Amino acid sequence: MAAPLPLPALHATHAGIWIADPGGELREATRGEAIARAAETPHIVLNAPLVGQRLGYAELSGLDLLELFAFLHPARFAVPTPAGLSRAVGLEAPSSEAEAATVLQTIAAKLLAVLADADWAEREGAWTANASLQRLGWGWASLVGARLERPERGERMLFSRLPQWEETGEQVPPLATSVRPAEAEAKLAELTGKGAEPREGQKAMAAAAAPIFAPRQARDGPNMLLAEAGTGIGKTLAYLAPAALWADRSGGTVWVSTFTKALQRQLDSEGPRLFADPKERAKRMVIRKGRENYLCLLNLEDALQGGFAGRAAILAQLVGRWAAYSKDGDMVGGDLPGWLPSLFRRAGATALTDRRGECVYGGCPHYRRCFIERAERAGRDADLVIANHALVMINAARSRETAPDRIVFDEGHHLFDAADSTFAVALSGQEAIELRRWIVGPEGRSRGRRRGLSARLMDVASYDDEGGVALEQAIEAARMLPSEGWLGRIAEGAPFGPVEALLAEVRGTVYARSKAQDAGYGLETELASPDGPLVDRAAAALESLEALHKPLSVLSRRLEAVLEDAPDWLDSQARARVEGAINGLKWRRETLAAWAALLARVGGAADSDFVDWLSVDRVDGREYDIAINRRWLDPTRPLAETVLKPAQGVVVTSATLRGGDDWDTADQRTGAAYLESSVGHFEAESPFDYGTCSEVLIVTDIKQGDIAALAGGYARLIEAAEGGTLGLFTAIARLKAVHARIADRLARAGLPLLAQHVDPIDPGTLVDIFRDDPRASLLGTDALRDGVDVPGESLRLVVMERVPWPRPTVLHAARRMAGGGSAYDDRVVRARLAQAFGRLIRRQGDRGVFVILSAAMPSRLLRAFPPGVRVSRVPLEEAILRVRERLGGRPADELSVAQGRCEPVADPH
Ligand code: SF4
Repeated sequence: MAAPLPLPALHATHAGIWIADPGGELREATRGEAIARAAETPHIVLNAPLVGQRLGYAELSGLDLLELFAFLHPARFAVPTPAGLSRAVGLEAPSSEAEAATVLQTIAAKLLAVLADADWAEREGAWTANASLQRLGWGWASLVGARLERPERGERMLFSRLPQWEETGEQVPPLATSVRPAEAEAKLAELTGKGAEPREGQKAMAAAAAPIFAPRQARDGPNMLLAEAGTGIGKTLAYLAPAALWADRSGGTVWVSTFTKALQRQLDSEGPRLFADPKERAKRMVIRKGRENYLCLLNLEDALQGGFAGRAAILAQLVGRWAAYSKDGDMVGGDLPGWLPSLFRRAGATALTDRRGECVYGGCPHYRRCFIERAERAGRDADLVIANHALVMINAARSRETAPDRIVFDEGHHLFDAADSTFAVALSGQEAIELRRWIVGPEGRSRGRRRGLSARLMDVASYDDEGGVALEQAIEAARMLPSEGWLGRIAEGAPFGPVEALLAEVRGTVYARSKAQDAGYGLETELASPDGPLVDRAAAALESLEALHKPLSVLSRRLEAVLEDAPDWLDSQARARVEGAINGLKWRRETLAAWAALLARVGGAADSDFVDWLSVDRVDGREYDIAINRRWLDPTRPLAETVLKPAQGVVVTSATLRGGDDWDTADQRTGAAYLESSVGHFEAESPFDYGTCSEVLIVTDIKQGDIAALAGGYARLIEAAEGGTLGLFTAIARLKAVHARIADRLARAGLPLLAQHVDPIDPGTLVDIFRDDPRASLLGTDALRDGVDVPGESLRLVVMERVPWPRPTVLHAARRMAGGGSAYDDRVVRARLAQAFGRLIRRQGDRGVFVILSAAMPSRLLRAFPPGVRVSRVPLEEAILRVRERLGGRPADELSVAQGRCEPVADPH
């Protein structure tokens, strides 16, 4: 075992602060002492921002083990805790928080020892990167440099080490072929393997999904199936079986779309069953995300060559290390550790992706190695593309790619929300600035390679006079859009240009009309009866948007003409760049047209298909955007038009597709109601005996608004369950207040408490830490719920602070009125309860208790829970007893079914 590194180490949790001195001697320290020591000498720490927060010393820096790990093992996963990192380097996890400080020294030594290991797989590029990191003042650089031998031959540049993608031929349409139900069942049997016990629900679902892949019978009439498959059915393989068969036979591609990254990962893990050979698998099963998720190599090159400074430049070097070893260049939810950007307080991470659509395609020197282009091309030839709802919808609505025509939407209960955001329109200051930057390019003090349209189309503009003039006119018109400093100018009453002037008027109207201004949160008001000045400003802004739209349209036409003419200089790279510009222009023109429609409505009649409102976005009282917003009253209408109707076959599935309601509701929430073709419905109940392995407790004696009682309730329930608790809140302020009151107490009892919005860690990593430690608990807002897929003992208690009623927004009020008033609210709450309950029992052997700390829980909502689950209204003391009885003490795998283990009722697998 490596000897501990003779440098001091500092470990701080809610339970205490420990310092291990260079000789390994350990002692507990006060906050003041730890701060003074850390300010004087760099200490080995694990997650400096988190330790800094625990100490109340945000500037804390040190020798962060996570940065060293990311340097040595880029693209490798590790849970960012002393226990997680110990395991990742092959050490025993520390037996106590106190011991963790000395373990940090041993981890450091073990990591640095890798540098001398001849078998170190990620050696290439390390020497060059460390030399740059040394110049940037990275804390570890001299320790690494002293142990790293200079390579005999110069290292290859990062960019030349990345593989090039191959150009693929024209996409051939799939053969018109079908899959018979019996064939789907046989394929399923092959996938589940010999000897697997038959699962009737799964078999039935595979058979029901098979006909969906056949060619459709009528235009705009896709074959469509809505399938509600309870937890434990094995629905993933049930639809993958016919999908894989059809793709194999037809040469076509099936898109499997999820809402959460957790399910994407789960689907990826099914890959080996479908394609045993890893090479074949990589070709035939591809994960796709939106382009803003991937590293843009041109942005990285810019950052490495001085575009970034300070800590952001160090992050760029570590991202550069990762890029060379990454499977697919996905920076968000891929193999870049989610915690890495948080260590740098996210400085620079988003600027490394192509978030603003500034790609220059064939004009980019890295085009042939670009991760985004590679993923897109790989998807064209794949049998299965694993994507997400937003990407499928955006592709169908505005992509240069062919829209998917066989689609499986898993987590289908999220289709409504995904469509709601995809088809939303907002004319806001931030959005307008993005558009201005895309056209005009960098202005003022902004740095970097960000280029405007003229730099991207210089050769076209000099070749085509009309195009050149249109380009100049567009740039001129875009200069009337908001620019940096716009919020300050509006606050001072000195807006520049018609759009800023309009937003100033919007802000005035919002403040004049909205309530609860002191709370510091976002404000909004309906766009109803606008007053004279607002109407006038909207008319002026409309004029200026039209002045921009016109030259952009001319430019698009001219670019298309250039493609048709194909002059000599138009090689394949230039063609790709012009095509990229045409696509980008199309999208911007559509945005402008949508904004124009919204502005035309300010002075005119309301359109009953839409809900329009004005808003000022604020966090803790600080304004960061002002907007006129538009949402579809029913976003499944554009979903049906742009995604469902053009498709040949669509399966929508979820464990809670109906949310305790009838099929009509599911038809409405998925867009199926807008189809003229008939839609199939399939249902398979969960095989689990929920009545035995779970129960619901409604606590009757915690008064609403009594934070002390609420915090006490949380603490005692977590203690009774000995951790493993997911606490869900409907308000961030209450989450923070509860966390502040109970985190220390629980930590001292050996029960770590993590919290979204409190800990400086991204939500995905919080869930990873929670999953890794059965004694940890996690507090989060309602939105965290969907990303929590934690089977087993780590999640055994869900505690909801209140009934999750929808927030009373303008949008909600409109949908509520259209959707049957309180019945609409009930549907929303039932769906949320069903989802939250669904976190508890993920697989065979799980057990769990679901607690609601609010007596105001109407009985009519209780059908959200699976049949057979006992629901009791009890005082807190009784709830604690029951939780202790069911969850405290022995782990589930030592229990029998009679003692509350979850097993299938009659259909074991
Ligand atoms: S092709 Fe576009 S997205 Fe890819 S690296 Fe180049 S500029 Fe970035």
